[in-house]
Amino acid sequence: MGKLFGSSGVRGLANVDLTPMLACKVGLAVAAYANAKKVVVARDTRVSGFMLQDALVSALLASGSDVLLAGAVPTPTLAYATRELGADAGFMLTASHNPPQYNGIKVFRPDSLSYVDQDQNAVEQTVSSGAFRLAPWQNLGKAIHVDAADLYLQMAFKAVKLQKRWHVVVDPGCGAAYNVGPSMLKAMGCKVTALNAQPDGHFPARKSEPNAESLKDLSAVVKALDAEVGVAFDGDADRVAFIDEKGAFVNFDRSLAGYGAYALKRSGGGTVVTNVEASMCVETMAGAQGGKVIRTRVGDIYISEAIKQSDAVFGGEPCGAWVHPQLHFCPDGPLSAALMLKALEEENKTLSQFIEEVPEYITKRENLSCKNELKYKAVEALGTLLKSAFPDYTDFSTVDGVRLALKQGWLLVRASGTEPLIRLTVEGETEAVANDITRKATELIKKQVEAGLK
Ligand code: MG
Repeated sequence: MGKLFGSSGVRGLANVDLTPMLACKVGLAVAAYANAKKVVVARDTRVSGFMLQDALVSALLASGSDVLLAGAVPTPTLAYATRELGADAGFMLTASHNPPQYNGIKVFRPDSLSYVDQDQNAVEQTVSSGAFRLAPWQNLGKAIHVDAADLYLQMAFKAVKLQKRWHVVVDPGCGAAYNVGPSMLKAMGCKVTALNAQPDGHFPARKSEPNAESLKDLSAVVKALDAEVGVAFDGDADRVAFIDEKGAFVNFDRSLAGYGAYALKRSGGGTVVTNVEASMCVETMAGAQGGKVIRTRVGDIYISEAIKQSDAVFGGEPCGAWVHPQLHFCPDGPLSAALMLKALEEENKTLSQFIEEVPEYITKRENLSCKNELKYKAVEALGTLLKSAFPDYTDFSTVDGVRLALKQGWLLVRASGTEPLIRLTVEGETEAVANDITRKATELIKKQVEAGLK
């Protein structure tokens, strides 16, 4: 059996990779691992959600665990409810931003963090060994419905008080935030125009992954209605994307860096967490507030873990997954949207003015072919070579691939997880710097790949 769990839980094509049988096994294995007496189960709007939910819930009841059914709500709502309701585990049926034919199971701990590698490995072992716990008939679990959305919205109203009546266009993309997203902002006093806010597991309106291309309609509506902000979420609403008051898509790195600086300013310094791929504008902005930046591997669980460990004030990935640790530890799209409005209010800025303060650097990406059996070794060997080629480096990290921070930029070399490729990412303060780093690093990688073939 191959590896079930990735960094975002179990993920695959519904009824091909992820079948009701597998959902059952994962449910039984987690119930045994967490010694679960009470769990919360939610799903996004995908067509396969009900099928997988029924299988999962059946297994959980068979294990003797009571199940609180939260329905179709965002992943952060499920994670928050898991902690607030004192459950032993939370299950989110979602494939996040993937196309509609996919689904997945993401598991959360009682502290609202998703399962880390160690938890997932233990569950995976139980799935393959089949050492499940089945309860005697007198001790089967019971399933009841729970209003997790209400619990979550109450937390949000307490946390974010807006003074201004913002005109916001909200685009949940027919996903899990179809209700919670517009409702939250409306209840906070915003004038809300909702777009693609009907739950539809075929994602007919746009791709579930929010980016400049998939949010063209949202941009046009923000502009046409003269609204102040546009916000969009991915399928399970743990990511947020913004459109400014001019109808322009806001670069993910710059919104992350800008909000990070605001969070540091509010708390009088501290730490911000991001991953190895994010722009160095995160450091530039954090540094101006006297803050520190910790960089993790790619994957939102690593961000949440590092935030908890380092007591950071904020953290996020440049795909729009932002974590606000004062509230819970799961990336949260709707809450990020509300908190961004609060930041704009306090800074007395429009969204484009807020973003303009963040420097824009030049990014270059290269994919270099390298045999699968060689790619990890080649990347490992490149560490020493890169250090001697760039002797003035300011930081060296192997937390995910090889990353070198330089005076006017940085470079990251990673082996592709799925393809016979080595991926190079470079950022520079200017075009010339970025080109220079790219040229030098590309040469070295090619040389290393050739040496490996001999
Ligand atoms: Mg997601």
